[in-house]
Amino acid sequence: MAKFADYYKNYIDGEWVDGGAGRIDVINPGTGEKITTHALADAADVDRAVQAAKRVHMSGVLTAPRPVERGRMVKAMGQYILDNLEMYAELLCAEQGKPMWEALVEIRGSSRYFEYYGNQAETLEGKSIPLGNGYIDYTVYEPYGVTAHIIPWNYPVEMAARSISCALTSGNTIVVKSAELTPVTSMIWAHAAEAAGFPAGTINVVCGYGHEAGAALAGHADVRQVVFTGSVATGSAVAQAAAKNIVPCVLELGGKSAAIVHDDADLDAFERDIRWGIFFNAGQVCTAMSRVLVHESRKDELVEKAVKIAKSLSVGPGVDRPEFGMNMGPMISVEQRDRAVGLVAKSVEEGATLETGGHAMNIPGSFLEPTILSNVTPHMTVAQTEIFGPVLSVISFKDENEAFEISNGTEFGLVGGVFTKDLGRATRATRAIKAGQVFVNEWYAGGVETPFGGFGKSGYGREKGREALWNYMQTKNVAIKMS
Ligand code: NAD
Repeated sequence: MAKFADYYKNYIDGEWVDGGAGRIDVINPGTGEKITTHALADAADVDRAVQAAKRVHMSGVLTAPRPVERGRMVKAMGQYILDNLEMYAELLCAEQGKPMWEALVEIRGSSRYFEYYGNQAETLEGKSIPLGNGYIDYTVYEPYGVTAHIIPWNYPVEMAARSISCALTSGNTIVVKSAELTPVTSMIWAHAAEAAGFPAGTINVVCGYGHEAGAALAGHADVRQVVFTGSVATGSAVAQAAAKNIVPCVLELGGKSAAIVHDDADLDAFERDIRWGIFFNAGQVCTAMSRVLVHESRKDELVEKAVKIAKSLSVGPGVDRPEFGMNMGPMISVEQRDRAVGLVAKSVEEGATLETGGHAMNIPGSFLEPTILSNVTPHMTVAQTEIFGPVLSVISFKDENEAFEISNGTEFGLVGGVFTKDLGRATRATRAIKAGQVFVNEWYAGGVETPFGGFGKSGYGREKGREALWNYMQTKNVAIKMS
């Protein structure tokens, strides 16, 4: 396994530096033990990082060459990630807790963003607009300049890869604020940028508390675009800070996403969707299938299958789970785990049936038993609140319209799903579900190529796909009067 150093620093303007706010302990959630410490940035560190990124942007060094050159450098970052796959997966497995095979999936997936967007650097073309004789008019797309990337702990590498690759491809410079619970793997951006030959200051990486470094970054007057992935409450604070400087945001927030399972659904196939949909990354996925709405005629059968899957998962430290299989790691922290335990207990008080799980496991680390709740009703706390853990709520419905109403009956709208053999039912659901992405007969269908983002309080703006590139560029129109 990769060995941790005793201490990791922030990366500002090409230098590894201490933080003005001191240091933070990094804990392995799979053991509860401290694994290292990391520098903590204060507002002055953030300012230095922003000024470095601004200097690189203003120099024009990223936009002067032919775009294919920038695209090749973006792809080189992806290659660096692949070349160091095992080492970063081991660090991720230790600091985030996820099983080693899931860490490998995340690091490999992170590299893929750089391939996908790097390939597109030279396709970002403007258009010419006819204005009649005597004029030439055209549009160009220009980068915003300094972009801020505020990252959560659930996919600390992949969430950053998603926006950094896109922002760099379109010629922006970058300040990353890593999540304070999982800061170590973020050094990947410094090393990858150096390996690809980006000038010092193009990418800066700081770890710091949200209320301190995060707030300083979101509200910095020289930041021209902000991408935030995290909770609704923090997203709202970030958007308000950015709005004071008239700065656009991409907000990727939470979800309470529902699969609608009709009476004709293939429940044997749906077992796979339960396994991935709610137990991948211990349910700490913004697009987790945290609610299953099942036709009342199939409820008992579905609950039986869900319980079987939950009970078959081997739960324990990620480092002991190297192979893909029926296993699950810890939640990120004891606080998050205990919050989930409390929400499950509350749902039982409110009348839900605890079919299996629901308790903290009596081993070191922050483990929660894989949990299935049935007889959940749409307005229970557990059906409305994002748990962000391995807890599935099963709700029954009588007819399609009721299913749509329940599916759309939360403040969120990140993704949704429908499981049926009937094309008419499926397409009606794709229209009725108020969410940024709808899966038909496979939870998590899609990929780097497919645009992703929320309706409602799940956020705005889109990541992934070509559409995401337009979050990082502004249109300039050039109107020329010919003499
Ligand atoms: P969080 O909102 O607590 O923290 C996210 C980041 O914001 C962290 O880096 C934190 O330090 C920073 N932050 C905190 N306060 C801040 C402030 N005032 N100003 C600026 N930055 C601040 O979220 P979390 O607990 O890290 O992540 C869990 C949440 O993230 C869940 O709700 C989940 O659904 C959501 N999430 C969404 C997506 C998506 O793509 N939609 C992906 C992953 C996670």
